[in-house]
Amino acid sequence: MHATLPLLRSSGFPAIARKRLETLQVNVGYKCNQTCVHCHVNAGPTRTELMAREVVDTVLAFLRGSGVRTLDITGGAPELNPHFRVLVQEARELGVHVIDRCNLTILNEPGHEDLAEFLAAQRVEVIASLPCYLEDNVDRQRGKGVFSGSIAALKKLNALGYGMADSGLVLSLVYNPQGPTLPPAQAPLEDAYRSHLRSGYGIEFNRLYTLANMPIQRFGSMLISKGQFNAYMNLLRDSHREENLDQVMCRTLLSVDWQGYVYDCDFNQMLELPARFGPQPRTKLADLVGRNLEGRPIVVADHCFGCTAGQGSSCGGALAS
Ligand code: SF4
Ligand code: SF4
Repeated sequence: MHATLPLLRSSGFPAIARKRLETLQVNVGYKCNQTCVHCHVNAGPTRTELMAREVVDTVLAFLRGSGVRTLDITGGAPELNPHFRVLVQEARELGVHVIDRCNLTILNEPGHEDLAEFLAAQRVEVIASLPCYLEDNVDRQRGKGVFSGSIAALKKLNALGYGMADSGLVLSLVYNPQGPTLPPAQAPLEDAYRSHLRSGYGIEFNRLYTLANMPIQRFGSMLISKGQFNAYMNLLRDSHREENLDQVMCRTLLSVDWQGYVYDCDFNQMLELPARFGPQPRTKLADLVGRNLEGRPIVVADHCFGCTAGQGSSCGGALAS
């Protein structure tokens, strides 16, 4: 795989600083049952990095001490971490809102047959990737059979109340473009998804988030191989909108890797650009318990234009309305 960080260093991206911390995003490991071509984690079945129980305990201690009310669990397929359910259960006991970034097909995997029921019982918000409502496009990006597996999983979630009005069980879908283009406007695409998924499969969901592809890891490497990296970077830079800067997710989110080191976001984690909270090159979450992070500078590079281009892009979808 081609390295992208050397191509992203000469940043003209504006300096930004942290606001009050609202979300702890925890990457519990890079193991996944899929190997999608756009994966910014380079996740897959052969990855062995998984958060250990003692790091999970640090995450819970941080939540207890910080007053952060949202825990966003990601991976890989986060559910493949053997401590996933303990983390969810104990965070929920603290009254923390828990988000599971679910690839959907994991719900059909042997040994995970009761996962959907567990998520519903814990009232976990599910945010699930479905980069298109057309089978060919999804299978091309995420692997053969992923579309049909995703539809089966969505039906399972709907049957438990996910995506249904008044159930309180929130199911959001995530779209990202197939190629080196910006996502279309979020609201009309959400309408198109709703109409296709409802009429074709009887599926309901709450929201659609549109995300730009980051020029890093597998997607960045593919762009380099195809000679499209510079053109995509120019598109992101030329589409930068200053007003998106105020809402990029790193302002209010802290990302933790499987070993407990902290980053300003999951993309920086994948680029191995640690957050700077002192003279040391890397900081562990355990050292931040009880500390106020407001006003601290955020580590930026040129990939950050992927968050501010056009309508903007974050874990919660488009930034501009
Ligand atoms: S994009 Fe998600 S589902 Fe696909 S390989 Fe990466 S972590 Fe797994
Ligand atoms: S890539 Fe990360 S650090 Fe850069 S703007 Fe986006 S969220 Fe912030």
